[in-house]
Amino acid sequence: MTAACSLVWFRQDLRLGDNPALTAAVKRGAVVPVFIWDPEGEGQWRPGGASRWWLHQSLAALESALRERGSRLIIRCGSTLAVLQELLHETGASAVFWNRRYEPAVMARDTGVKEALKGRGYWVESFNGALLFEPWTVQNKAGKPFQVFTPFWRHCLAQPQSTPPRPLPTPKRLLSPAQWPSGEVLDLAPRLPWANGFSPLWCPGELGATRAVERFCTDGSVDYSERRNRPDLAGTSRLSPYLHWGEISPRQIFERLAVKAVDDPSWREQRFVTELGWREFSHHLLYHFPATPIAPLRPEFSRFSWRTDAAQLRAWQQGRTGYPMVDAGMRELWTTGWMHNRVRMIVASFLVKHLRLPWQAGASWFWDTLVDADLAQNTMGWQWSAGCGADAAPYFRIFNPITQGQKFDPAGTYIRRWIPELSSVPLEYLWAPWTAPAQELVRAGVVLGRTYPRPIVDHAEARIAALKAFQELRSLPKLLDASRAVSS
Ligand code: FAD
Repeated sequence: MTAACSLVWFRQDLRLGDNPALTAAVKRGAVVPVFIWDPEGEGQWRPGGASRWWLHQSLAALESALRERGSRLIIRCGSTLAVLQELLHETGASAVFWNRRYEPAVMARDTGVKEALKGRGYWVESFNGALLFEPWTVQNKAGKPFQVFTPFWRHCLAQPQSTPPRPLPTPKRLLSPAQWPSGEVLDLAPRLPWANGFSPLWCPGELGATRAVERFCTDGSVDYSERRNRPDLAGTSRLSPYLHWGEISPRQIFERLAVKAVDDPSWREQRFVTELGWREFSHHLLYHFPATPIAPLRPEFSRFSWRTDAAQLRAWQQGRTGYPMVDAGMRELWTTGWMHNRVRMIVASFLVKHLRLPWQAGASWFWDTLVDADLAQNTMGWQWSAGCGADAAPYFRIFNPITQGQKFDPAGTYIRRWIPELSSVPLEYLWAPWTAPAQELVRAGVVLGRTYPRPIVDHAEARIAALKAFQELRSLPKLLDASRAVSS
């Protein structure tokens, strides 16, 4: 067995292009590409149903891309350290390379793996394959992590990495080890017919990611800042699941979009780059405040009077709240595994403010149903919506699901698409069908409470109750400083 054989441990970097761990291994010699299914190692945040669907397809795509280059993907199930040790022993490899992840439980696991393997004399190296700015390299003048996006991003833009190097090339061929180890068959596809709706929309894998970025370049990136808030238009890139699974890197996106630097003034759609900045910020927050997937960043919110109401939570999950804009979003999520960002904000606000149900309940539903479920971005999105996170929307800013619909789905196209039972309701009543005169509802074939639910809460009353709960929270004595409370 050649001494220059390396294991490349694939995780959320399911691509061959711009893959630093793979590039390092290829330079050394023979490569054994490995994927390990180790849900225990993910801590509390094991991949949800939609993520497993994606991963199942993506691993198949990676395996076939590797085969085209004369290689294979070895899949094994079990405890990561034990599996890596077995594979090192079986292949005679002397090095293990991987690209970093930033979830707290995963980082703890990876550190343990690294120390154990190094202790046994192996060359172990991890790389940055996912972010433009490593979370520990960005801090404010006081040496503390940022908690507000604008200064965070301004600081990032002043860093040398804001002009990212060109993506690494895709290796043409991979040298095989003298003997391939055996692999296992991993079937992660959900048994429910639920996921059938995902296939027509998504093409998990590196090729799908490349096509998505091409599509965005040709028609999506024009007027991005105008169209990005409109769920009725294809105005955003839909790159989020590809980015989450590392099927494309930010550097590759920049290259394709011809963005020379993060703050390149010549590039017309600066706003899109800023959204990638929000992605960076979410990882910065999760790294520095590892308790936040469960605990609010602003500790006073741990005393907020959240309600418990299983029936209302179910109605929200199933898109039966009686508020068409909310229900359309929740049904889009269920059917496609994705939801437009504007609608994510609307449904999240509805859950935490109109229903006063805990943001963690919403985050956990998203975790199970989103194909782009990402611990950093999901946590930031939910804490932002609940008013308890970094740079959060103030709790008293309560999204009105009716006027939000009027503003961002002005022709009602999005609602009619996801709630076909309302398709004949005249536009003026579409965002609030209970306000329609009885004969209009009859004409549209709608029987409220039967064909479509009545609102489960009254908007005005829910708003007052939410503001009251917030006032009560404010009147409680102050708790510890946020960063001290969660960063230990
Ligand atoms: P584009 O508008 O094309 O943006 C390009 C990329 O920038 C996205 O793919 C994404 O990686 C990043 N991005 C865009 N908006 C945001 C944002 N607000 N915060 C952080 N990154 C952003 N995004 C996830 O990827 N995974 C999640 O689990 C997730 N959960 C969310 C939960 C809530 C309650 C909210 C309000 C937002 C959440 N987001 C999440 C952020 C955002 O909604 C999605 O990234 C976006 O809708 C993806 O669509 P796109 O790729 O077309 O975005």
